Amino acid sequence: MKPTIHLAFVDDWEVRGNGSGDPRVLQFAPMRRLTEVYRKYGIRGSFNAEVMQQLTYRNLQGRFPELKAVADEWEQVVMESFQQGHDIQLHLHPQWNRSEFECQGSWKLHGDWSIINYSSEQIRGLLLSGKRFLETLLRRVDPTYSCVSFRAGSWCAAPSESLLPILAELGFVFDMSIVAGIRYDTPRVKLDYTHCDESFLPYYPEMNDARRLSRTVQPIVCVPTNSFWIARVALFRRDLRKACMMVRKKIERPGKAAMTTTHESRGRIADDWTNRGESGAVGLAKRVVKHYIQGQIHVSDLSLMDYAMMRRMMDSIRKRAKESGLQNIPVILENHTKDVHDFSDIERFLADIASSPDVNAVTLTEIANGLRNGTFKVRTA
Ligand SMILES: [Zn+2]
Repeated sequence: MKPTIHLAFVDDWEVRGNGSGDPRVLQFAPMRRLTEVYRKYGIRGSFNAEVMQQLTYRNLQGRFPELKAVADEWEQVVMESFQQGHDIQLHLHPQWNRSEFECQGSWKLHGDWSIINYSSEQIRGLLLSGKRFLETLLRRVDPTYSCVSFRAGSWCAAPSESLLPILAELGFVFDMSIVAGIRYDTPRVKLDYTHCDESFLPYYPEMNDARRLSRTVQPIVCVPTNSFWIARVALFRRDLRKACMMVRKKIERPGKAAMTTTHESRGRIADDWTNRGESGAVGLAKRVVKHYIQGQIHVSDLSLMDYAMMRRMMDSIRKRAKESGLQNIPVILENHTKDVHDFSDIERFLADIASSPDVNAVTLTEIANGLRNGTFKVRTA
């Protein structure tokens, strides 16, 4: 029998990692747009709401009234989506931990980007305040709501002596920070997930290293965020299409003023995500080789894919589901609404999913329930 793929449409809902970008442009408008598309196809999505930003806005709103208006709208749009049946779970960027707001409306974030570089006490404090915040907010709509899953900011979750034990202690059912195959060595983020014991199915992790499979049952499960091997041709076609779109936009909307406003409201990424040794001309050449000659492991992030790539991703998921021999397999996708300019590819893909008998769209809470009641098998070594 064909396995059933329980597919979670997950979105890391946030501004830029350096705090730049207007939440109205990067978060509120695209969340409303995406939930509209979900409604059309009867799909309930999940949003990993980045809470440190919101807590920081609330802390400073007495001194800066403009922050209160944004924080109020943040909660309003989150509650709206939740009332429509979408799930809200925890995402956390600890760089907001030590932040300064400057009067011109920009942020300086001084905290480390990786939660695992903080002390156990700090990790517990961060997770607890995030979980409490979401539960207090959402229990106003549904008293049974629980924060059950976690994705670390910038994927930084392993290795760590404290992160998984604290998540388990606080009642989280699963973590989805591991993306098998990725590696970052940037000024902000260092992680190496190139060798993970399990890249597809839910598993019990070693409690001090989420990349490793435990021999025994553990108090928390890891469900990898899906990744897949993408061939160079598909990448090239996507990038070519993107470049054409940018050129077309520039022709349609000339004039520096318009461009500057758009850029400012969308924030700046700078070098935060460029691997060491891959900046400048030599770096660019290295990146091109990696991309178009070797092919690469790709996070299943819908905001980075065109429709053709989404189909390839589903081919890979179906193949691996079949090979697993299991009947029910949860699969977690990624998305960043802040990076979606055009929802048409996502919409086409959702239409496919809605009419696929072997795919069942689920929320993260439903994955947690399936892990608890045994619908989803959890691997050990
Ligand atoms: Zn994030």
